[in-house]
Amino acid sequence: MVNTQLLIAGRWCDAHDGRTLDVLDPTTEECIGRVAYAAKIDMKAAVEGATIGFEAWRQLTVWDRCHIMRRAAELLRERSSQIARIMTAEEGKPLKQAMTEIDSAAETIEYFAEQGCRLNGELVPSRFPHVEQRVIHQPVGVVAAFTPWNFPINQIARKLGAALGAGCAVIVKAPEDTPASPAEFIRCFCDAGVPSGTISLLYGDPAEISEYLIPHPVVRKISFTGSTVVGKHLAALAGAQMKSVIMELGGHAPVIICHDADLDMAAERLCASKFRNAGQACTSPTRFLLHTDIADSFIEKFKKQISSLKIGNGLDEGVTMGPLVSDRRLKALTALIEDAQKKGAELWRPKIPMPSKGFFFQPTLVFRPSLDMRLMQEEPFGPIAIIDKFTDLELALKEANRLAYALAAYVYTRSERTGRLLGEKIEAGMVAVNHSGIGLPEIPFGGMKDSGYGTEGGPEALREHTITRLVSSQHERS
Ligand code: NAD
Repeated sequence: MVNTQLLIAGRWCDAHDGRTLDVLDPTTEECIGRVAYAAKIDMKAAVEGATIGFEAWRQLTVWDRCHIMRRAAELLRERSSQIARIMTAEEGKPLKQAMTEIDSAAETIEYFAEQGCRLNGELVPSRFPHVEQRVIHQPVGVVAAFTPWNFPINQIARKLGAALGAGCAVIVKAPEDTPASPAEFIRCFCDAGVPSGTISLLYGDPAEISEYLIPHPVVRKISFTGSTVVGKHLAALAGAQMKSVIMELGGHAPVIICHDADLDMAAERLCASKFRNAGQACTSPTRFLLHTDIADSFIEKFKKQISSLKIGNGLDEGVTMGPLVSDRRLKALTALIEDAQKKGAELWRPKIPMPSKGFFFQPTLVFRPSLDMRLMQEEPFGPIAIIDKFTDLELALKEANRLAYALAAYVYTRSERTGRLLGEKIEAGMVAVNHSGIGLPEIPFGGMKDSGYGTEGGPEALREHTITRLVSSQHERS
């Protein structure tokens, strides 16, 4: 049993009133721990701590900050096998995927640690004599970061890395479904010497915490990853306070497979990315648009790949797909599939053994989709792929751009020209052609339209956490 505490002003503690929530293992449905549930007084203390933590962090030189962040990444790597087991137990993803996630989080922290040392200002030549125009990038202040359960560590790593690299303090509201692995991640920073209050960690009622933190005058920036509905609500709260936000929201990624695609490669790569983390990723490929010439052949290869998945307890050797995170998600996916069936969809599921317990959902291909199905409008966020066909590439493009979601998209073609053309014309923050190479620390990560704004990768992510200021001074030469 793990008892996950809050981190307030550098001290790990229970909630003021001792309240907790149970944490379930989605594989066994058993309670494996508890997480502290913050009261208002805890939130107030976290903000007070962050005020002091911000001053302490910004006073350090960028080189000292870089050193602490690099040390935290080192500690994370040293502790990765133990932390990965915790993550698998509370979230369900296979151990190997948990290890990959932790490794990627360590790289993200290292990237932003170093990027912080390159937050150069500029001198803009003046049109007036003896005038110096200095442009400086200063940390925006205390950041409130709200992160979800699907990548319990990596979602925090992106937000924390960019904010700390820019010199900000961060109050993390981490996911209650998967609280223990984020706490162990943040412990690495404490042990690496991050000043008290620079990072705070809260769990509780998400709405209560966001309604407290977002309007609070000390909090200057809001960063959220989660559903579009919640994102719009939080962006409105922040807008009322004239605070800037980064919103990394849902997706409904289209996949266009052209007549000239390498189908073996496409089937293998798309199976891996579709069923990674049981499809619970905002970038998960969802609407498969297949050129009629190759549709049957691709479907056959894709089914073969899916049939080779091993579904079960993520801690067991060889398991490639675990359960959904919660009963809530299981019910949501079941409802989407029932709705699609009622409206004429045909389903295909592989004949592979399924565990009798746990929040498991079988990989499902949905054929004969129609626009009145909820699945064609809402993000499934699970191991469901919708299969459709096209003959005219323009119509496939139109379907790809139909929804307000615009996060990730995938294209498979041997033609460099088609790849570039679709890369430019598909409305999505990220388009991957012939692979799934998105989500690395050094490249932009973010969406367009209802999938949000702002970016969580590359140098721009660091800039998102700064304010650009001008100091213009005129001095007669003495
Ligand atoms: P949800 O909408 O209840 O919660 C999604 C996330 O938002 C959770 O982490 C939750 O703690 C947080 N949240 C909810 N209300 C909040 C509030 N008022 N203030 C602050 N945070 C709040 O949904 P869920 O059942 O957990 O997940 C379902 C949907 O969420 C998915 O279909 C998907 O669209 C979205 N989601 C997206 C991502 C992503 O990576 N973009 C991750 C997880 C969930």
